[in-house]
Amino acid sequence: MESRFIPLSVPNFSGREKEYVNEAVVSEWVSTGGSKVPQFERAVADYVKMPDAVACNSGTSGLHLAMMIAGVGRGHEVIVPTLTFIAAVNPVRYAGAEPIFIGCDDSLCLCPAEVLRFLKEHAECVNGVCRNKATGAEIKAMVVVHVFGNMADMQALMKIAEEWHLTVIEDATEALGTYYTEGVYQGKYAGTIGDIGVYSFNGNKIITTGSGGMVVSNHPDWLSHARHLSTQAKSDELNYKHDEVGYNYRLTNLQAALGLAQMEQLEDFIAHKEKMYEFYRERLDGKHHYRILPFCEGVRSNHWFYSLYVEDGHSLSRDEIIQVLKEQKIQTRPIWGLIQDQADYPKNEAYGEEKARHYLERIVNLPCSTSLTQEDAERVVQVLLSL
Ligand SMILES: *Cc1c(COP(=O)(O)O)cnc(C)c1O
Repeated sequence: MESRFIPLSVPNFSGREKEYVNEAVVSEWVSTGGSKVPQFERAVADYVKMPDAVACNSGTSGLHLAMMIAGVGRGHEVIVPTLTFIAAVNPVRYAGAEPIFIGCDDSLCLCPAEVLRFLKEHAECVNGVCRNKATGAEIKAMVVVHVFGNMADMQALMKIAEEWHLTVIEDATEALGTYYTEGVYQGKYAGTIGDIGVYSFNGNKIITTGSGGMVVSNHPDWLSHARHLSTQAKSDELNYKHDEVGYNYRLTNLQAALGLAQMEQLEDFIAHKEKMYEFYRERLDGKHHYRILPFCEGVRSNHWFYSLYVEDGHSLSRDEIIQVLKEQKIQTRPIWGLIQDQADYPKNEAYGEEKARHYLERIVNLPCSTSLTQEDAERVVQVLLSL
């Protein structure tokens, strides 16, 4: 029998998506007006226990809004992780600022020890302003990415941010649903701890609106500013008055309809992801030079992406393993190349990236769709154990 294709991560529309999208179509509110956008904002805000949220048309536009409401602008510098998706970093440039790249810890997220080492060696704080001693530029903010649904070490990072007067922008695009179960941030969701948090609803994320994003903030006035900027900065709807340069970054009612249906299933998606993660872990961890990387303790992770770590003794390279799986119609992928190595960033400062390089050369992301069956996961396991 022909074995079927097992995708890496595909959307799951088994809820009320068609019903809600149809309502939006029937209502003729298909663009940025309509009742579903505020409903979706309310659903996400309530879920992550925040007073409000601003929907936008991608995680990338959400991160650009985050830069602007944080006051990141021309001549500023921003601390970012080097091991992440490039959309976490490009918005720094959109704002006219420059990123400073820092490596990861074993959670694959921004390493607090490396951030502190960089600041102590290369920065100084004068009158509440953090400056890069080499460039003289103000280091305005820090972007923290919660990689693959894990939680970055927020306790350590927030302490550093406070001491060094940095605004914290949480890129929680991969971590909707991840929260602390213990410690000082117990009950706090990824994205709600720093100054600003951003979620993404791209097709491969834990819930999707096709494309979409959401911004939350612990500063209500900053959040209103994000909403204003996302809708062309209109100060007078009727007479077309605009009080600054705005953007067409608002989510549409059609997308929000999808999002509402997806939110109803989010906890079920997370439960399924966790179950399949445990399945892979039981079957593969410690066997044939494989490890399944853990999620942090003291955290309920959304288990968005699974990381198979291939130890050095394995007879095949990471790329050969991906190739064999591909021949068996199983889609997997390596993690991102470091951003500091991408075409536009070689001149930027970079610190402590050794661990990031180590992990990126050895990790394979395994199929993790919310529709993945145990039978399919077993096929993935059998191929890996035959190598
Ligand atoms: C997906 C993702 C984004 C961007 O989200 P889009 O909705 O695709 O624009 C940003 N950062 C990280 C880490 C992501 O994984």
